[in-house]
Amino acid sequence: MTKIAIVGVSGRMGRTLVEAISMDNSATLAGAIDRQDSSMIGRDINNNHIAVVSSLLDVIDSIDVVIDFSSPLAAVGNAEICGRFGKNIVIGTTGLTSEQVQCIKSASKSTAICMSSNFATGVNLCFKLAEMAASALGDDVDIEISEAHHKHKLDAPSGTALTLGHVVARTLDRDLDQVAVYRRQGDIGERDSKAIGFSSVRAGDIVGDHTVMFSGDGERVEITHKASSRMAFAKGAIRAAKWLSVQDSGLFDMQDVLGLK
Ligand code: NAD
Repeated sequence: MTKIAIVGVSGRMGRTLVEAISMDNSATLAGAIDRQDSSMIGRDINNNHIAVVSSLLDVIDSIDVVIDFSSPLAAVGNAEICGRFGKNIVIGTTGLTSEQVQCIKSASKSTAICMSSNFATGVNLCFKLAEMAASALGDDVDIEISEAHHKHKLDAPSGTALTLGHVVARTLDRDLDQVAVYRRQGDIGERDSKAIGFSSVRAGDIVGDHTVMFSGDGERVEITHKASSRMAFAKGAIRAAKWLSVQDSGLFDMQDVLGLK
């Protein structure tokens, strides 16, 4: 039985993870963490007899693995704690700066970490399909990535859209920092053929839609994924948590878990 602690337990993903763990015969909820000022602190989560606490340190000795869907700052702090105590951690939190990713890489020298912008199996398949499409269509097509999410999402473009951009840029030997176009308005001039464009919609309760478009002369390929429930992310994160238990240390992603590399 894998004993899991969830950070961000009262959030949208946290609550879905609690539900997913309750349906899983080989995992159990052993720790529930949220912000110090959360109204959930001290309360029982889902009648599990697990009270919500404000620090991972309060439960670190009674868990096997952490799943963090909270905030970038918390994710970095929790990765450091996991490194120190030799506990594995799954990080679903997005919007991390490159410095924060560096901190997570450092922590992964002493423990196994799985970090992915999207834990849904179908999205990870789309990463692979985007790589294949970029490799086959090459520089003959214009590449645009679009995404849509609910109105509460804090970062844009989504971590998944950025991962799609990195996959395509890497395949075509481009530097995403040099070719990404995040905003277009007014007299923008003709499109640079090497550009990778991003557009974001924030509206209502959209769980997460992503499309990569490869548009050439006379034809267009679109790879689209639509999430209809957060359960797809939660189940993937739990699968990653179990997979980590047989790894010593290192930084992995969901492609490693699914054997797609
Ligand atoms: P949310 O705002 O509903 O939940 C976040 C939770 O984290 C809240 O309960 C909040 O109180 C808690 N939190 C914030 N700071 C904290 C801290 N310092 N310590 C402990 N808890 C803290 O957000 P959400 O929709 O659940 O998404 C959470 C994160 O997961 C976001 O970064 C989102 O982009 C990401 N996400 C990733 C995937 C994926 O598959 N990788 C899927 C969905 C969401």
